[in-house]
Amino acid sequence: MGNEKGLTPQAEDFSAWYNEIVQQAELASHSAVRGCMVIRPYGYRIWELIQAGLDGMFKATGHQNAYFPLFLPKSALDREAEHVEGFAPETAIVTHAGNSELEEPLVVRPTSEAIIWPIVRDWIDSYRDLPLLLNQWANVVRWELRTRPFLRTTEFLWQEGHTAHATESEAEEETRRMLGVYRTFMEDWMALPVITGLKTESEKFAGAVRTYATEGLMRDNRALQAGTSHNLGQNFARAFDVRFQTEEGEHDFVWSTSWGVSTRLIGGLIMAHGDDTGLVLPPRLAPYQAVIVPIWRNEDQKGQVLESAARLAEALVGGGIRTHLDGREGMNPGAKYYDWERRGVPVRLEIGPRDLEAGQAMVVRRFTPDGEDRKRPLSLGGITEELETLLVRMQGELLAEATERRGANTTRNVESMDTFRDVVESVGGFVFTGWCGDEGCEARVKEETKATIRVIPDEEFRSSDPPTRCLCGEASVAEVVRAKAY
Ligand SMILES: [Zn+2]
Repeated sequence: MGNEKGLTPQAEDFSAWYNEIVQQAELASHSAVRGCMVIRPYGYRIWELIQAGLDGMFKATGHQNAYFPLFLPKSALDREAEHVEGFAPETAIVTHAGNSELEEPLVVRPTSEAIIWPIVRDWIDSYRDLPLLLNQWANVVRWELRTRPFLRTTEFLWQEGHTAHATESEAEEETRRMLGVYRTFMEDWMALPVITGLKTESEKFAGAVRTYATEGLMRDNRALQAGTSHNLGQNFARAFDVRFQTEEGEHDFVWSTSWGVSTRLIGGLIMAHGDDTGLVLPPRLAPYQAVIVPIWRNEDQKGQVLESAARLAEALVGGGIRTHLDGREGMNPGAKYYDWERRGVPVRLEIGPRDLEAGQAMVVRRFTPDGEDRKRPLSLGGITEELETLLVRMQGELLAEATERRGANTTRNVESMDTFRDVVESVGGFVFTGWCGDEGCEARVKEETKATIRVIPDEEFRSSDPPTRCLCGEASVAEVVRAKAY
């Protein structure tokens, strides 16, 4: 079979494997501007499916979409001190329009807090206008020095939720709720199990009181921060003077939150499930859940096979299964199998003259739990229902496999720096240790091992018998999850 384009094995060079998959599966390509990427139709379809899934969940939790401008006056970004300090090094600034210099430079949004709050302050008078629950789907620009397709690009697509509340506890509740929405999406749609928890002060969003994150484990045992949810307290409300009249007739600043996920999720999908054959897509996010490959040996067979294959495709599409009929001429079936396996299609249906005689199609799964046969015939009568069941099962199997892999690559109760260094350099993965709470200690461990504190995990992820000492030997004040990360 034609291994036309080689794929570097993951164990040999994971980073090369990643770059090749992005190209060969036709997800994205480079552009004339370094760090900016072109998302190709196959990759963009995955993004559309991600958007549709998340957008439904945002609306179900009471949020409305709006759209705010791409530019903001530089002075607006400067108003929240921590925020400007965090984002200034990576902002793109417009100084000219045509041949004339602008009176005030404009910043291309790196995130939209400083655009949204000066506008919506006029939408809020009293507690009756709260909570204000907004989301926007947009592009943002952060001038990154080191970029990789999907994982870190200068311009990327994302959604950013922005909400305002009357009380501190409502804002905290919203921050946690949206973290939960992200977790549900990542597990149920992406088949990506995540650890949720709190970021340390040094890793939190610039301008936030508290940042929560979801952290997934990739197949090279590095962590990926997949989504973040920020409790902004009254920081932005004070910076942009967003006040409201309380039920008691007093005036107070609103309590706000923001939360986001980006096209980085596609990078997460690639690295969480892909293997040495290529991409592996969870059925719920696969552009094509099933691809039909018709097989013929002569022109007589061709007409009949293609006609039956078209009928089958129509029936599957009618049953809600995203299906593609690969009728490409001059390409042998083996080359088509290879192509769709590389692009991660969950199910392939082979249909030839002998299958038609037997009233069946050969179903070939992209992945199976260990040892199970990938290939079996399915009767054409009732095939839509059979495939629906199979796709649901495959979605669950992929999550189970990823959860098992995470378990096998998690090390708990590491108390000494020597052991920690060994684990990080050999297995990698998530390492649960104690932490003394000191930022200097956090920075030293990072400097020495490149592994960072991903989160202070939520209760359900904590060890039953957590470490009592930090890696530095001091008493531990919190159990933390450390890992090398993207
Ligand atoms: Zn320490």
